[in-house]
Amino acid sequence: MDARGLVRPGLEAMQGYAAIEPIEVLEQRAGKRVVKLDGNENPYACSPKVYGALAEYPYYHIYPDPAQAVLRQALEEYTGVSREHIVCGNGSDELIDLVLRLFLRRGDEVISCPPTFGMYPFCTEICGGRLVNVPREGDFAIDVAAIERALTTQTKVILIASPNNPTGNTVSEQQVKQLVDTGRIVVVDEAYFEFSNTTLATLVPQHANLIVLRTFSKWAGLAGLRIGYGICPIEIANLLMKIKPPYNVNVAAEAAALASLADLDYLRANVAKIIAERERLLRSLKELEWLAPHPSQANFVLCSISCASDNRDESPARVVCNRLAQEAIFVRYYHSPRLENCLRISVGRPEDTDALMAALRGMSWVSRGVT
Ligand SMILES: *Cc1c(COP(=O)(O)O)cnc(C)c1O
Repeated sequence: MDARGLVRPGLEAMQGYAAIEPIEVLEQRAGKRVVKLDGNENPYACSPKVYGALAEYPYYHIYPDPAQAVLRQALEEYTGVSREHIVCGNGSDELIDLVLRLFLRRGDEVISCPPTFGMYPFCTEICGGRLVNVPREGDFAIDVAAIERALTTQTKVILIASPNNPTGNTVSEQQVKQLVDTGRIVVVDEAYFEFSNTTLATLVPQHANLIVLRTFSKWAGLAGLRIGYGICPIEIANLLMKIKPPYNVNVAAEAAALASLADLDYLRANVAKIIAERERLLRSLKELEWLAPHPSQANFVLCSISCASDNRDESPARVVCNRLAQEAIFVRYYHSPRLENCLRISVGRPEDTDALMAALRGMSWVSRGVT
């Protein structure tokens, strides 16, 4: 027999998420510490209190609390939104999946505004939904009028990242209010909130269809432990609590999140360092005439490359990305109609910026289009 014949239609042909290689593999290959600027991770790692909390945690042999009571209470204090609105997940990725599972029937539509986060098409496909792309404007602002025109009776969810990955810009409150007025479920993904300091979380309790997603992956340096949360209307929060896997947040992730929330001064100081470094990185990139970085409210910078490639088969962005990788400096490149010839560079420590800039300055050949 061939099990593929039993697979849900559509899934076998699916593309899958383009993952990046594990740090151990990269380090072993390079034979040295790598400069990892491809995952928007925190270069200062997590709070030292996390290591203490994990070392001392006494109940690894006991299942986690499905009601997430302690964590939701701590997040009430952190977010200023009461705990009945909060649902925690195995990363905010899980909340994207849960929200879509809650609302989508097969063929229902999800609006996404590319260029944006790759998990939106991924989760939509897995949930049997239909992705409707409404491209952003030239300055990467979302096009609210075009979103309104794209609405059909099948449209259930509108997904907007703010700040957006990989473009770094935010949505305005006005824009989100217009989207909320469409009566569809509006998800504002604030994975980079702590770097932008603008949030729509306080609007959630006044609206029945607005969800804000957050994560500990970026600002708190817990990407590997998988912990995120949603701030939802209470009715939606109750439903998400009901359909989520009971033990979706493991006890290590919970302990780490609590320890992080108990060390805010330390973590906020690191966020401030990253923001300052982001501005220095922007200024440095601007000094090279073949690079055009875009302003960013997040912990990464999108940078257009304006030059010819020395290789007909590869975009200059890809060539630059590969040459950087040869020097153990890892960034992401994009080459799509909406995002032509761009690098996304996560903000690292000052020495990471220095290493990156030295490598880029050594590539003056790129601007001439010859090796
Ligand atoms: C990184 C990122 C996430 C993923 O967060 P996790 O909590 O690690 O799953 C969600 N949304 C956007 C836009 C991101 O860039």
